[in-house]
Amino acid sequence: MVVGDAIEWTAVLGIPLSATPGEGLLSVEQADGGRSRKIPYTVGHKQYKEQHLTVSPRTVDLSPEDQARYERERDHQAGVMATFTELPAGVALPSLRMRVPVPGRRSSSFGLRRVFNGQPRNPHSGMDIAAATGTPVVAPLAGRVIDVGDYFFNGGTVWLDHGQGLLSMYCHLSRMDVRVGDVLQAGDAFCQVGATGRVTGPHLHWGVMLNRTMVDPALFTPA
Ligand SMILES: [Zn+2]
Repeated sequence: MVVGDAIEWTAVLGIPLSATPGEGLLSVEQADGGRSRKIPYTVGHKQYKEQHLTVSPRTVDLSPEDQARYERERDHQAGVMATFTELPAGVALPSLRMRVPVPGRRSSSFGLRRVFNGQPRNPHSGMDIAAATGTPVVAPLAGRVIDVGDYFFNGGTVWLDHGQGLLSMYCHLSRMDVRVGDVLQAGDAFCQVGATGRVTGPHLHWGVMLNRTMVDPALFTPA
């Protein structure tokens, strides 16, 4: 994602939690085919806390039917995550400043290493906000709806495309009042908090994806 203007711009990209700490090189290609530039960066080490959760056993040890369902949904979601539009029609240029989609306590944060019913699983890739079922969720930025579904782990889910490879996802919803193609402005209510999918109670799971990488939503919100 590129922010700024013709005089000065900044490229912002997501680095996955699974990245190996150390040196990396970013390659900047000129649109006119001119010389490319290499920009070095360093990925530091961070130790994330571990979190133990107890959930319904059928959401940890999957039956063959649930495993097949999960794999179908994973393939579908991979297509959604690959969405890249310069700027969806009706959507303003994305900003790095987002409003929090629901008021409430942030009950767990990005990067936590998670152990479900004693079994290690992928780290937490978003922000959990505790809120009652039925609490309206608002769009943190203008965006276009690119997916609405009910998934095994994520429950009721909506994905928004904000342009420039910046996507956001909302999970465990009880209600979804939008369809694919709908355009939302920042602050529009479009779904409601719930407890669907693999959860311990009602909350919003909010994910932010940049260049197909889940990044910490807290980076974009006021402290
Ligand atoms: Zn979550």
